[in-house]
Amino acid sequence: MPRPIYLDYAASAPISPLARRVFLKALAVFGNPGSTHSFGQAAITLLDQARDEALRAIGIKDSSRFREVVFTGSATEANNLAINGVLEKAVGSKIDRFNSKVKIIISSIEHDSVYEVAQYLVERGVEVVFVPVDVCGLVDTERIEREIDEHTALVSVMYVNNEVGSVQPIQKIAQIIRDWKSKQSNASPYPIFHTDAVQAFSGFDCNPDLLGVDLMTLSAHKLGGFKGSGLLYVKTGTPISGIILGGGQEFDLRSGTEAVPTIISFTSVLTDVAKNRSREAQRLNALRTKLLRGIKKIVPAVIENGGGAPHILSLRFPHHSSGDLLIRLDQLGVAASAGSACQSRSPKPSRVIGSMFPNDAHAPRESLRFSIGRETTPKDVQIALSRIKSVFCDKI
Ligand code: PLP
Repeated sequence: MPRPIYLDYAASAPISPLARRVFLKALAVFGNPGSTHSFGQAAITLLDQARDEALRAIGIKDSSRFREVVFTGSATEANNLAINGVLEKAVGSKIDRFNSKVKIIISSIEHDSVYEVAQYLVERGVEVVFVPVDVCGLVDTERIEREIDEHTALVSVMYVNNEVGSVQPIQKIAQIIRDWKSKQSNASPYPIFHTDAVQAFSGFDCNPDLLGVDLMTLSAHKLGGFKGSGLLYVKTGTPISGIILGGGQEFDLRSGTEAVPTIISFTSVLTDVAKNRSREAQRLNALRTKLLRGIKKIVPAVIENGGGAPHILSLRFPHHSSGDLLIRLDQLGVAASAGSACQSRSPKPSRVIGSMFPNDAHAPRESLRFSIGRETTPKDVQIALSRIKSVFCDKI
């Protein structure tokens, strides 16, 4: 078997040497951060450091805002907390601000950890607006503007789509929400604005103040950290309740003893990625272009889906089943994906590509995602291209 080429960074990235080093060192600190003795103190000191580091890595210099970083067990959990936590506070409390008629607005191409929560809420009587996207995978901001009303508790739009790499106009949506609020007579904090920035952090500035978001989700393992580690940025004053109850950790927003070594390795990666972001984004863009041009030479009919993020290349191969292509590529030593990681084990057609091309039943079954990252080299791209060529030269 030749050396496999990993082109599935959007599913998960290899653990970075920095994350490994920091993690191993932190394993020596085993106390519970909630304990008062010196072992607990050592753990809480590390946790405080991690929180401060995360705050700075997302671009917030004021360390007194440390409560705005809430560590979670994954980005999936952070997204669930964002949506259910805001709704719980809005309608679950004794003062039901929405008279139980509550609405949320999300894009139709959200990751399942937002989309499925929204579907679940539909079944429970919440009005959910799934705002469509255009053929480039960009959300219809005018529709968002039209949909916001006094019942809207939350707007959630991802920053970078994980399947096609489209980059949503987060600042513009934030402005729409601010404008709407400024026209209301009461000083309501609603709608709260959440963005899932899991796929954005490696390539784009994710400063929540700059973006104008109240809530923002990040994940460690897409950046070289460990799986099972995420965070929710929560702007001070955002009405939100914890959805995992217990010991009241993470300012009552996420009970459960914090996994300090995993968390501190996550935040070290955040700092590192943010520091090298612009150089790395340029490098990845060049590799992405090389891959795209190379594939176009092999299959001139190939069509690019979406685009915008430096690390994601989604391509449609007309008349080829993505499932078959994936198997052939894997046999030849190229690891790619047909959709989001959660979907790729099942041959379900891509919901995201289906949303971009609602009148084309074939598009969701003919698309592949190649995603690159820190360890991808020009040589890897060259080897991948020669293997991709043998898939198509056999088939065409
Ligand atoms: N959001 C996006 C955009 C993702 O790509 C992913 C991972 O696939 C997630 C959320 C979920 O991340 P996690 O695996 O940390 O739960």
